Amino acid sequence: MEQGQNLLKDVMNRFISAIAFAAHKHRDQRRKDATASPYINHPITLVNILANEGGIDDMRVLIAAILHDTVEDTETTEQELVREFGQEIATIVLEVTDDKTLPSEERKRLQIEHAASISRRAKLVKLADKIANVRDVASSPPAGWSLPRRQAYFDWAKAVVDGLRGVHPALEHIFDEAFKLRP
Ligand code: ZN
Repeated sequence: MEQGQNLLKDVMNRFISAIAFAAHKHRDQRRKDATASPYINHPITLVNILANEGGIDDMRVLIAAILHDTVEDTETTEQELVREFGQEIATIVLEVTDDKTLPSEERKRLQIEHAASISRRAKLVKLADKIANVRDVASSPPAGWSLPRRQAYFDWAKAVVDGLRGVHPALEHIFDEAFKLRP
């Protein structure tokens, strides 16, 4: 009993450290919606989708989801993630990190191309990311996004999700429901 509680405490503390780490790294960033919401809302939304909508309890997936944009959008390095959270979690984060030295269209194409070959855990993070983002584009799109741009975002997100189908039918169904919000 006590051992179980200690284990739970360990897992909780690791997860809380990841939230604190991501909140610090994203502290000066805002989302692109009209109200410029705090960036950290986005990774928290992903974890909420995975845990409370998808029923995922794999802590590596949940921690990687909280950290998933730290390398892509802040100065966080792989070494830092390895030191703080271990190689396994750092690897998942890197699997869902775009190469920002490439032009945006090329990055989008590569996401579609790579979706099938990333690990199962990375697929779950990517799937939750696409669910969160299409919901955001439907309900509070980035300021200045035209209708065709919003539609193109939905279509691209679906092409990425189509590449990883089979990983978690319930979450894929949640994506398909969110896709119905396509403007
Ligand atoms: Zn994201």
